[in-house]
Amino acid sequence: MNFSNLHRASFVQQLSSQEFDLLVVGGGITGCGIALDAALRGMKVALIEKNDFASGTSSRSTKLIHGGLRYLKQLEFKLVHDVGSERAVVHRNARHVVIPEKMLLPITEDGSLGKLPSSIGLLVYDMLAGVKRSEHRQMLNRHETVKAEPLLKSDKLIGGGLYFEYRTDDSRLTIEIAKSAHANGASLLNYAELTGFLYDASGKIDGAKVEDKIDGGEFHIRAKAVVNACGPWVDLLRKHDNSLKGKRLQLTKGVHLVFPYKKLPLQQAVYFDVGDGRMIFAIPRNHITYVGTTDTVYNQEIDSPRCNKEDAQYLINAVNKTFKDAHLKLEDIESTWAGLRPLIHEDGKSPSELSRKDEIMISESGLISIAGGKLTGYRLMAEKIVDITAKILQKDFGNCKTKSYRLCGGEFKSEIDFEDTLRNVISLGDLASVSEKKVREWFFRYGTNAKTIIEKVAKLTNRYREKESLLQAAEMEYCVENEMIYELNDFLIRRTGHIFFDKPASEKTINNYHRLLTEQLNIAAESSDKMLESTKQEYESVTEFISYSNSTST
Ligand SMILES: Cc1cc2nc3c(=O)[nH]c(=O)nc-3n(C[C@H](O)[C@H](O)[C@H](O)COP(=O)(O)OP(=O)(O)OC[C@H]3O[C@@H](n4cnc5c(N)ncnc54)[C@H](O)[C@@H]3O)c2cc1C
Repeated sequence: MNFSNLHRASFVQQLSSQEFDLLVVGGGITGCGIALDAALRGMKVALIEKNDFASGTSSRSTKLIHGGLRYLKQLEFKLVHDVGSERAVVHRNARHVVIPEKMLLPITEDGSLGKLPSSIGLLVYDMLAGVKRSEHRQMLNRHETVKAEPLLKSDKLIGGGLYFEYRTDDSRLTIEIAKSAHANGASLLNYAELTGFLYDASGKIDGAKVEDKIDGGEFHIRAKAVVNACGPWVDLLRKHDNSLKGKRLQLTKGVHLVFPYKKLPLQQAVYFDVGDGRMIFAIPRNHITYVGTTDTVYNQEIDSPRCNKEDAQYLINAVNKTFKDAHLKLEDIESTWAGLRPLIHEDGKSPSELSRKDEIMISESGLISIAGGKLTGYRLMAEKIVDITAKILQKDFGNCKTKSYRLCGGEFKSEIDFEDTLRNVISLGDLASVSEKKVREWFFRYGTNAKTIIEKVAKLTNRYREKESLLQAAEMEYCVENEMIYELNDFLIRRTGHIFFDKPASEKTINNYHRLLTEQLNIAAESSDKMLESTKQEYESVTEFISYSNSTST
């Protein structure tokens, strides 16, 4: 069966009618990574997600597969080593969504980074992360730094460092992992919320009560082991289990702002010092540049954190201080996103000082909770959890197999194979009159599966007079049939990222995509209207604070 909500009834039937070795709660990158690892080892695994896959922190990050250069300052050598060396693995397994990106670290007279410490720091970073020689950091003098990024203010600049990271699309990476888990036999369902645990006579967890958020129904899933991979919601689940003791989460909020590229036309990604102990990324990406992130203690509602005026102003001030002729204003913001870091509380530490290490907690009832960590380290976290689960189940499921497992869409043998495949897909697109620009967009979103979308264009060509509508229909049909979308937001936010990276243009396509989705999933009028309303609200919410701050200041 395809990974599609067209088969929802069968998926619910599968989940409720058998016993699983492992139930994973939470469909962010951590949960999906665990489901894939477990499925590849032959475990019978289920995963439920209360909203859409990646709708939590896993679509709200800085979207980098990085080793965390700043953790060196906190002397977190093991963390830098583990996630740093993992970057190349994540890239190899999903070349279409994990792309090498050179990062520039400017060094200024009044900054907290000196030239020599930066040079040593970057070298240690490369060494710890096992970076190949050809990609070792390169130290630049003042002139070379300005040449690398002409927008940098040069008065206090004394040099810079160029080093390698990878950029990604966090929710695309998560969905490719979810698709891979499904392809290997895992049973995953979105819009399915855990509302309580089931226990055996000895008080051990042996399942979950689940609410189907689409039709409001309830069903039970039985499992020998249950993992809580709920990110910022981890403690809420521990509360359901009456096991919220000892270590607790400390949530911190991080926001990102999106500007039209022409407002901040960077030649290159920059990681700069703000002067208050924080570091900020400014990353150009097609026709936008995004900037982030903040790091502030967060104690409000978890479901939809938002960027507010203070967050935005902090980032704007930092950008205007660093780049000449930027003069950015609140009104220049095109889109935003805000995410919550599920960190472990440590007395007396500020948000930026809290460790990004992952932490595993096992309750007396057997609930295995995992929090903290990074996108980058998702595979290593999954390996640890599945090893623990196998021990608890007292069965040999063999070693982890994900290190060399190519994710869905990323089935390339090498960089050369990747380039060859891209050329072939462009030729295929040409035969179906799909422009190279469009094919590239699809290829860097769906990888090898871009071919399937092009085949759909050929198949649907007689049904659409307008080219744009034809392309939209083909992509939507692919996502309906293969990516478990149900809501319009799933498509516009998490499968395509349109709301972040292409907001003004995509706003004009909302009605068309809404009609396509409603038709293809055969959604009843009332739900369909709600869905459209929710998307329009979401498009407004990401920049709502701007009009609010204008109206309160007048
Ligand atoms: C601002 C910011 C920037 C970051 N930048 C980077 C970066 O550039 N690189 C990097 O490597 N890492 C980065 N991170 C860290 C990374 O994003 C997170 O570590 C990672 O996304 C956490 O994933 P997760 O699956 O644990 O949590 P989530 O993605 O939040 O997933 C948890 C899921 O559980 C679901 N859930 C909750 N309750 C229930 C329930 N009762 N039933 C069913 N499902 C439930 C939620 O809906 C959610 O989808 C960043 C984090 C933040 C906040």
